[in-house]
Amino acid sequence: MTTINDNYLKLKAGYLFPEIARRVKTFADSNSDAQIIKLGIGDVTEPLPEACRTAMIKAVEDMGDRATFKGYGPEQGYGWLREKIAKHDFQARNCDIDASEIFVSDGAKCDTGNILDIFGKNNKIAVTDPVYPVYVDTNVMAGHTGNANGNGEYDGLVYLPISAENNFVADIPRQNVDLIYLCFPNNPTGATATKDYLKAWVDYAKENGSIIFFDAAYEAFITDESLPHSIYEIEGAKDCAIEFRSFSKNAGFTGTRCALTVVPKTLTAKASDGSDVELWKLWNRRQSTKFNGVSYIVQRGAEAVYSEEGKAQVKELVSFYLENAQIICDQLKGAGFEVYGGVNAPYIWLKTPNNLSSWDFFDKLLQTAHVVGTPGSGFGAAGEGYFRISAFNSRENVEEAMKRITGS
Ligand SMILES: *Cc1c(COP(=O)(O)O)cnc(C)c1O
Repeated sequence: MTTINDNYLKLKAGYLFPEIARRVKTFADSNSDAQIIKLGIGDVTEPLPEACRTAMIKAVEDMGDRATFKGYGPEQGYGWLREKIAKHDFQARNCDIDASEIFVSDGAKCDTGNILDIFGKNNKIAVTDPVYPVYVDTNVMAGHTGNANGNGEYDGLVYLPISAENNFVADIPRQNVDLIYLCFPNNPTGATATKDYLKAWVDYAKENGSIIFFDAAYEAFITDESLPHSIYEIEGAKDCAIEFRSFSKNAGFTGTRCALTVVPKTLTAKASDGSDVELWKLWNRRQSTKFNGVSYIVQRGAEAVYSEEGKAQVKELVSFYLENAQIICDQLKGAGFEVYGGVNAPYIWLKTPNNLSSWDFFDKLLQTAHVVGTPGSGFGAAGEGYFRISAFNSRENVEEAMKRITGS
């Protein structure tokens, strides 16, 4: 008799975005002339930078000639791309990261899930609440949790609440946790982390022998010069942190697919016999066995992000979304909303007015303004009473949505 991975039956999620889609459809079906504007799902809307497209077209031509054709590439990514990432994203910020410590992949979403392959079954795992749901669900699938309670909180996970009271940065836990997921700039709250704050986490991790999973998917949106882009800007982080990055949000690669994970060679964790094992070796083995690399064409597109034109075009793209975020923040604040994020991040996190629940505010916004956002409660119990608005949209849609919400 064939059995399944029963852990999948514990999953609550897959609930948020389908439920949004269901409510939007119900509304649209009975209001066929409503022009609905979607500021919900965190997907980009603007075209790929020209430098990336040109590089990919050239790479397609390479594939058409036996002399330059590429078959399987290195599972870790081509050396020319890893070198550029190491130089521009890390060494330029005084992070001592070598190209060999960079693993190119087809997504930070899969990497944050797959990384669990190389860790044991009995680690204590901490996530913030609210949180990017992938961190939680992949632990549920891997059997690292019990069942969820009525609030959607899984037995066995340590939830670190974030709210306006702690500026949306979690207090360092008093108990010992082994794996900690941090995401800065944050999805969904748009909060950022200072160097001092990350230093406190690095100190905690080193003292407790913990590993930090640092998701820097939105680092390109940092405009405040004092904020760290990488956790490796913090002394000691090479001994306790794995960093995830992506070309999805900076260069608009959500549909093109390229990302990277940094596993420093200095990073170790315990085997069951008590010995220290290099995590780099395990991740290298995992990727070589279960992954065959990112397409040559896409890696050439990603490489172009580091050219002079590419850098300028990415900067322009990010600035465009940040201006959207600024417009959303200004308009909502002007209309009396309590607004967070949206400065060094493409997400605006607002407190629902009149203590409406996240879903009640969702329905109200849909019905009165025909605007779709994301209920904060969908990111965790402590997100209740909050609401996420994404700046990923055309200027026209953002301005029209704000006009409708503020009634101006
Ligand atoms: C969008 C996003 C990513 C990027 O995922 P990809 O698979 O690289 O597209 C990673 N982490 C967070 C929190 C995100 O919002």
